[in-house]
Amino acid sequence: MMKEIQLVFDALKIPSRIVITMHQKPDPDAMGSSLALYHFLKGMGHDTTVISPTNWADFLKWMPGADSVIDFESNGQVAKNILSEAEWIFCLDFNHFSRTRHMQTILESLACKKVLIDHHREPQLDSFDFGNSDIRKSSTAEMIYDFIQLSGRSDLINKDIASCLYAGVMADTGSFRFSSTSPSVHFMVAGLMSHGIEHAKIHSLVHDNFQENRLRFIGHVLSNRLEVLYEYNTALIAIPKADILRFHIKTGDTEGLVNYPLSIQGIEMAALLIDRDEERKWSFRSKESFDCNTFARTYFEGGGHYNASGGRSSESVEENVKRFKMALKEFTNNTKQ
Ligand code: 5GP
Ligand code: MN
Repeated sequence: MMKEIQLVFDALKIPSRIVITMHQKPDPDAMGSSLALYHFLKGMGHDTTVISPTNWADFLKWMPGADSVIDFESNGQVAKNILSEAEWIFCLDFNHFSRTRHMQTILESLACKKVLIDHHREPQLDSFDFGNSDIRKSSTAEMIYDFIQLSGRSDLINKDIASCLYAGVMADTGSFRFSSTSPSVHFMVAGLMSHGIEHAKIHSLVHDNFQENRLRFIGHVLSNRLEVLYEYNTALIAIPKADILRFHIKTGDTEGLVNYPLSIQGIEMAALLIDRDEERKWSFRSKESFDCNTFARTYFEGGGHYNASGGRSSESVEENVKRFKMALKEFTNNTKQ
């Protein structure tokens, strides 16, 4: 059974070899919380390495420490050697090893202590020795902030740590507008600002850091790939491989795209399907009472939060669109009863 997170502090009094990892294709919360914890644990005297299961978006590269993150996909042997020597592994912003793609079997077989810090639904608690899993938290960044406070070493928070945490909480709260933006989020941000973070600059580094092709791609997709299903208060964007190739779309370029249809009056759920090389990837977002987590879990091998989730499928784009419409009908009928 997973023990309470505060029990790690005693064990971590001795300098240790620690690996921090996160979900594949890390977003600002996964990367920001991992790097903040990285700086903090290094400050505590630990030999610490961050390993990402895959590559990450260019708009995360400004984060202090991002240069030292190891990409498991492109640098597997180095990552495997470090993992095999680790005494501790901290798993951030995911709660099921399947979210780490090709790292899954390695993580499952490691005998070291495993710590979970995450805010997603339905965690795989048996897999972790210590941890904090709390779906009420806005972001993993907020949980790392709490973790640092709990350690009694908040004196180690500096501008680098504060900047990474700010990026994470800013992104996961949709710039402080989602309902997850609790008073504790604002207190935390006030604390981070006292370290001199450049909040306007950080917002710009995350959101205004793309190339022209990405904006033209969004224009194309909204004009030609958006289908609005008013009957279900839902909108769907399905992007074929040809669009990805035509606009030279790379990791991170589709971030945030799923939110656009939610700006249409009456639309309560938005779905985005992207044809990636190895699979078809779904993103779901909702306002109001549509349960994205259950929907993704039931029909698309996925999960996440109530208002934001993701899933995947090996079927074609066309098959996925068919399945989505069928699923939407069934799910809406079931939840109405
Ligand atoms: P995104 O749409 O940004 O990829 O993901 C939205 C949320 O759903 C994130 O919190 C992410 O961790 C979660 N999520 C995305 N894809 C999957 C998936 O395949 N499985 C699970 N369990 N969660 C996912
Ligand atoms: Mn998160």
